[in-house]
Amino acid sequence: MSKIAIEFGIDQALEALGIQNINNGTSTGTENFSSGEIIESYSPVDGALIGKVKTTSKGDYEKVMVTATEAFKIWRAKPAPQRGEIVRQFGNRLRELKAPLGKLVSYEMGKSYQEGLGEVQEMIDICDFAVGLSRQLHGLTMHSERPGHRMYEQYHSLGVVGIISAFNFPVAVWSWNTALAWICGDVCVWKPSEKTPLCGVACQNIAAEVFKANGLPEGISCLINGDYKVGEFMTQDGRIPLVSATGSIRMGKIVAQAVAARLGKSLLELGGNNAIIVTPNADIKMTVIGAVFGAVGTAGQRCTSTRRLIIHESIYDQVKDAIVAAYEQLRIGNPLDENNHVGPLIDTDAVAMYKAALEKVVAEGGKLIVAGGVLGGEGYESGCYVKPAIAEAENHFEIVQHETFAPVLYLLKYSGEVENAIAIQNGVVQGLSSAIMTNNLREAERFLSVAGSDCGIANVNIGTSGAEIGGAFGGEKETGGGRESGSDAWKIYMRRQTNTINYTTELPLAQGIKFDL
Ligand code: NAD
Repeated sequence: MSKIAIEFGIDQALEALGIQNINNGTSTGTENFSSGEIIESYSPVDGALIGKVKTTSKGDYEKVMVTATEAFKIWRAKPAPQRGEIVRQFGNRLRELKAPLGKLVSYEMGKSYQEGLGEVQEMIDICDFAVGLSRQLHGLTMHSERPGHRMYEQYHSLGVVGIISAFNFPVAVWSWNTALAWICGDVCVWKPSEKTPLCGVACQNIAAEVFKANGLPEGISCLINGDYKVGEFMTQDGRIPLVSATGSIRMGKIVAQAVAARLGKSLLELGGNNAIIVTPNADIKMTVIGAVFGAVGTAGQRCTSTRRLIIHESIYDQVKDAIVAAYEQLRIGNPLDENNHVGPLIDTDAVAMYKAALEKVVAEGGKLIVAGGVLGGEGYESGCYVKPAIAEAENHFEIVQHETFAPVLYLLKYSGEVENAIAIQNGVVQGLSSAIMTNNLREAERFLSVAGSDCGIANVNIGTSGAEIGGAFGGEKETGGGRESGSDAWKIYMRRQTNTINYTTELPLAQGIKFDL
């Protein structure tokens, strides 16, 4: 038995988080109600039923929206630093519950316990960031062209923010949105992935407790549950000025159209097809660690997972051999056991997509150099465990152009200058994360220049995954263009207003226009 499993079991974690056998998936704070169908949540770790969640009907949703809209009026009137104080308390509660929540994330989603803890740490970090930010929400002042006039801009709370999240970061993505939205004075309605509903219930329980202890109204944090149909309640609802949606490009295209049709705002965090460029000046040891963690971490189910390795021909064989040797060391199994590197995929549908990708790359002319395969037998009863695979391929292959959400790494060869590698890297529709491994300053700067990587994230001597919350996170092209988390990402959760005040007895017009009566 693993060290972690001895410390405390999943049952104790569920108890600490207030998870029951049957849970209400609709909540406006401490008030829980649901009249929809039941979703059963099975763990990909061992196939066990963890719990059930009652989903949100249209009628339930209406009740949520009325409560959230009322709560907004009270919440927006609170000074931002006081809202920050509530987020500080929420962050502290997360500190206390880090181990059980990290364990639930690991057990329901299938990522390693360390990564589950890391995800909760990310929640704590964004809370800390938001607390500081609650005293810094700022606009600019500009000089007016008219005498005796003052001009400035200010940011007001936006309203009810709708959050739709993916299964692979079942708690952190919500907190990136919600911690910022809350300090901005917004209230949030969250629909977690139907594949990880219990993580949603656990987070809502924690938030509701903090709001209740502070005598704040029901509805600042709301939870709804269900599949895409419940998501559509929000995308089609004109009462929601901003929908923040994280998930596949396919989903993002539908959500973007639905929200745009009613001229709402959407913040889209969609799929990636991330590459590491390995130049002749790379540190090979660092490259291997970065590439292997990037490709197999979270079983290749990160939006920032490394999918393509673009290697200079002069070191191609050396890098290939080192990566293949590293793959031979990988231990695949229960992610709650810290001895394992790779856990399961989320479900058997994901396994089918993984198998189809391996078949497709071969059919297109690629060569599997680490064959992969589905694992069975003792410890793998859930049917969700696969071996990470590596294929030599070409960038133009249809399957290489596509994000397969599984541990499949494509090796691509380039020759000549780094610009040739950058062209390969940019030659996909996605634009999330990118990296170059080089000790050559000129290569690194060319990669970072305007003619370099076209991604939202471009790293030097770091892999593609594992972003910090301090920077704005997101990607270009079909990744959706949204930015979340650090830097000035908070601005999307507010509405900007430009104010001009005339303190004279004259009424001069802008641009010197004469209008005499
Ligand atoms: P998914 O697109 O299947 O589902 C994501 C969420 O969208 C779920 O809650 C789902 O119910 C909802 N949804 C689906 N169709 C909808 C519709 N028509 N209207 C409203 N809601 C709808 O994605 P997934 O399989 O859960 O997650 C994996 C994907 O998410 C990958 O493509 C990954 O790259 C991406 N992702 C991106 C980021 C990022 O920050 N860029 C982060 C995490 C995951």
